[in-house]
Amino acid sequence: MAEYGGNAKLLAGGMSLIPIMKFRLASPRVIVDLNRIPDLSGIRVDGNTITIGAMTRHQEIEHSQILTQQFPLLADAAALLADPLVRNRGTMGGSLAFADPAGDWGTCLLALGAELGIRGPKGSRAVAIDDWFKDTYTTALAPDELLTEVRLTKPSAHSGSAFTKLKRKTGDFATVSAAVNLTVGGGSKVQGVRVALGGVGPTPLRAPQVEKALQGASTDPSTLASAAQLAAQDAQPSEDTRGSVAYKKAMAQAYAQRALGQALSRAQGRTG
Ligand SMILES: Cc1cc2nc3c(=O)[nH]c(=O)nc-3n(C[C@H](O)[C@H](O)[C@H](O)COP(=O)(O)OP(=O)(O)OC[C@H]3O[C@@H](n4cnc5c(N)ncnc54)[C@H](O)[C@@H]3O)c2cc1C
Repeated sequence: MAEYGGNAKLLAGGMSLIPIMKFRLASPRVIVDLNRIPDLSGIRVDGNTITIGAMTRHQEIEHSQILTQQFPLLADAAALLADPLVRNRGTMGGSLAFADPAGDWGTCLLALGAELGIRGPKGSRAVAIDDWFKDTYTTALAPDELLTEVRLTKPSAHSGSAFTKLKRKTGDFATVSAAVNLTVGGGSKVQGVRVALGGVGPTPLRAPQVEKALQGASTDPSTLASAAQLAAQDAQPSEDTRGSVAYKKAMAQAYAQRALGQALSRAQGRTG
């Protein structure tokens, strides 16, 4: 990559790269195949940190017991991501590097506050997921850098996460998606919360007004419902074949409310 820079492309699952090459939207001179680097793949637990290698396939995430147990929203998302053929080949790293505004992993990882590991000619560095997405199909990665892994901190007791997604048919990207990660504290108050939306902006995005309304608030259904209404304001959708701005804002509210309810019930059922 150092030698060829922008003339080279890394190949992960090829589920996005090959189609854009077919459409002549990318014509790299050199393709570097990451499939021959086993260290980039797999899920590791090291103390409180769970690391997902960039080359880990969607289907491995879907069926991972440790991930399903610790971060159930990842299994929610994997089961709804594309179709089984794409899930068998596509990777978490490829999805994050491609940075589709409706990409499901970006939305989930924003809710989880993940850290991304990067390696390049100048060495290794870490980027917080909040600083990763710069614009549509644009990330903090330099052309000669490789995304190596995603790092997540194990959730505390009384934490729960959930992902919901509206799509027109199997195999479609999200019209709207919502990811929630919340912790319930004493007196049934929300102690910590991160909410992210997909498909309703130039990149997957946080929902700051929803988060602010929930922080320290009671967990009763009416409080969750009024906080979810603010998702319509946090969403920044554009009209396209998947729907109008008003429709997408209404769906952002509805899907955020569902994700909040599910994350809360998981948090209440989790003791350690
Ligand atoms: C029919 C279809 C439906 C889909 N539906 C969904 C969906 O519902 N939700 C969703 O989230 N996604 C969806 N996708 C996209 C899918 O998740 C892809 O797998 C993903 O976007 C790209 O992953 P990949 O591993 O195939 O990467 P590739 O296609 O191999 O690479 C994509 C880009 O990322 C770069 N890249 C890959 N790996 C790295 C790395 N480790 N470091 C730096 N750069 C890297 C490549 O150079 C390339 O530019 C769909 C794709 C298809 C074809």
